[in-house]
Amino acid sequence: MFGPAEYGIDVEVPTTEIEHLLSVTPLDVKPASELSFARNVFIPLTTACRYTCTYCTYYDPPGAASLLSPQEVREICERGAEAGCTEALFTFGDDPDDRYTEIHERLDEWGFDSIHSYLREACEIALECGLLPHSNPGDQTREQMEIVAEVNASMGVMLETTAEVQAHGGPRSKDPGQRLATLATAGELRVPFTTGILVGIGETMRDRAESLLAIEALHQQYGHIQEVIVQPVVENERWQNGSPDPETMRRVTAMARVALSGEISVQSPPNLAPVENLLDCGVDDFGGVSPVTDDHINPEYAWPALRELEEIADGANVELSERLPVHERYVSEEWLSPPILDAIEADGEAGRRYRALLENVDF
Ligand code: SF4
Repeated sequence: MFGPAEYGIDVEVPTTEIEHLLSVTPLDVKPASELSFARNVFIPLTTACRYTCTYCTYYDPPGAASLLSPQEVREICERGAEAGCTEALFTFGDDPDDRYTEIHERLDEWGFDSIHSYLREACEIALECGLLPHSNPGDQTREQMEIVAEVNASMGVMLETTAEVQAHGGPRSKDPGQRLATLATAGELRVPFTTGILVGIGETMRDRAESLLAIEALHQQYGHIQEVIVQPVVENERWQNGSPDPETMRRVTAMARVALSGEISVQSPPNLAPVENLLDCGVDDFGGVSPVTDDHINPEYAWPALRELEEIADGANVELSERLPVHERYVSEEWLSPPILDAIEADGEAGRRYRALLENVDF
């Protein structure tokens, strides 16, 4: 059972399921018959973060953190739309806390009382430019998510792990219970959601099994998880504690495929993981791939060109297809708000581009 009562969430994972998952090997899964990716632009709305995870180079301390202006957001979105992208990927740290006075003052000057109300504005800019927003603003309360859910095609947050690990430690420690609560809130608000585990930050194999099963338990309850990323931690200027070895990644990826419902994609990020080596372990998605912007979370690890992904898919004899940031099964009134459905159904180039990627939806 995870999730302290303070976050109002309990996720029960039976021990027998954990034991079963721990026995899984890559030989227990079949390779996927198709691989998908979404074409995105990365928009690092703010590098402020209330946490200080020891493996993370994304966040900047107070005084150094950036906040993109509405004009900068528009310019990035226009560049992405021109390059044929469909997804505006808004990345954040996590709520900038009180230490980030400059960020709060700037938001105030621009007329926003919170980073979430500014995110809503940024998502509206993305929609105007012909991109579907997918925001990853860290942990969110129900009130925060309600501000932005309507203008996002899908949202996400990495669970990373249900374990208490030292890498999240320090005075402002990230709490797995709060992450699970964010996942549950997304389910309650019917937001198609992406999450994932981060491998190699001090968690055990059992912790990985528990984390995957906790995600599956929430999906069983709400049906909202569209993809689960199995991401290795990578070395950088703040993290020199190594990355998981290829065999570990193969085993954990296979565990994800076995733990998760068949409709949930298992995603391997091609700029961080040895994807060629994982295709027989159940990977069926490469996630967002950007033809125009850097991966601001892992800037030292450039995106492989789309041509390289095609070669990888060819080598495995599987088809590579582009998808929207929201998976096809969620494109309906049940899951998407009127502003997002209107954008998908609109006349004009952006609408045509979205609809071309939706084979099984009648308009
Ligand atoms: S991993 Fe996320 S929550 Fe942790 S410091 Fe980096 S941006 Fe903040």
